[in-house]
Amino acid sequence: MSSEPRAIDAVKDIIYQCNRCAHCFDLSWLGQSSREKCPAYRWGKFESYTGRGRFFLARALVDGLTDYDAELAQRVFACTECRGCAEHCFKYLSTTDIYAAMKEDLARLNLLPPALAAGLSDEGGLGEYHNVYQGAQEERLAWLPDFSHVDREAEVLFFVGCTSAYARQNMALDTYNLLVQAGINFTVMSDEWCCGHPYLAGGMPDKAVTFMEHTLAAAEKLGVKQVVYNCPGCQRAFRDDYGKLTGRPAPVESLHVVELLADRLDRGELTMDRYRPKAAVTYHDPCVLGRWMGIYEAPRRLLKAIPGISLVEMPRNRRDGYCCGAGGMIRYDFGDMANLAGADRVAEATGTGAEILLSACPACVMQLQQSRQKAKARLKVMDITELVAQQMRPLRA
Ligand code: SF4
Ligand code: SF4
Repeated sequence: MSSEPRAIDAVKDIIYQCNRCAHCFDLSWLGQSSREKCPAYRWGKFESYTGRGRFFLARALVDGLTDYDAELAQRVFACTECRGCAEHCFKYLSTTDIYAAMKEDLARLNLLPPALAAGLSDEGGLGEYHNVYQGAQEERLAWLPDFSHVDREAEVLFFVGCTSAYARQNMALDTYNLLVQAGINFTVMSDEWCCGHPYLAGGMPDKAVTFMEHTLAAAEKLGVKQVVYNCPGCQRAFRDDYGKLTGRPAPVESLHVVELLADRLDRGELTMDRYRPKAAVTYHDPCVLGRWMGIYEAPRRLLKAIPGISLVEMPRNRRDGYCCGAGGMIRYDFGDMANLAGADRVAEATGTGAEILLSACPACVMQLQQSRQKAKARLKVMDITELVAQQMRPLRA
């Protein structure tokens, strides 16, 4: 190890607080299987994949009993960052702060798993393309019907995000149309870059901040005060991570589109009664929207306002929700783990008898659609924006 200060040493105090109780992964005392909460443990089977196991590794690092190597990197990066462990930690320890510190040290030592390293690289990866799909910048707004909202001055920015812009363009369009229908004066940036969230999953917070500052500078020029997202990862980057990493809160308010629409609904400014579909649906809480940011009820309020829709909850919902396998950029190097988590979640959704599985995140929806196809499940997978866009009717023209 170089003489550079290590990130892990800065979080020593949290590491020493772990009492090794195992609540972060073993809920058998509640009559639940011990692998029901942590997708990494469910896949990896060894305790070193769990919260407590990682705390053991972290403790050995700060006590000088071990050092970083490729095997340890495997344990740290095989994690969906779902925060199931933090949610159930007996001492409310922020487990993911420990994982982030270990990732930062591993990135400095060039010990990233190979596919993730390539995806984030400055040559042929995120650093070059400014998105994780290697899409051309000029294609970023290819989904737009017209450019009337692009780069215009407005207090509200729709931050599209890489997944909507390049891989789930119908979601970009649905969100755009929802904002138009809601009568919001908003702008879209032609020079939008990735929010920086993938760099955090890869232990590169400085690069994440550089990307966030690119957006904030462009937003300031347009007079933006509020940013709306359909991707919880993008929202978290600006709502929470920017302030945590820089010590300064981002100079904009950040809202997920479901929050914005639920607020309009509560104020009587929206109705959703266009098609009256009559369907049983179930809702998958995206880990970042739910456990990371505490947004559980806004999507449910929207769904309950659609006539004919009945919401059936999965056994694991809200703070107990189970990751679909899309988080932590694990698909790059741990595809089997992502597939297992996705299959588990689709099976759970199918078990409710619902006809439609909904979520509020483009990455979750993409992952759940792939898992549904593999399982050949008789279940439609949609984002909530898609369903709401079909239903919404503005009260004001
Ligand atoms: S964040 Fe999720 S996958 Fe990672 S150790 Fe915690 S429960 Fe397991
Ligand atoms: S629940 Fe918290 S205190 Fe208990 S072993 Fe896990 S990380 Fe440590």
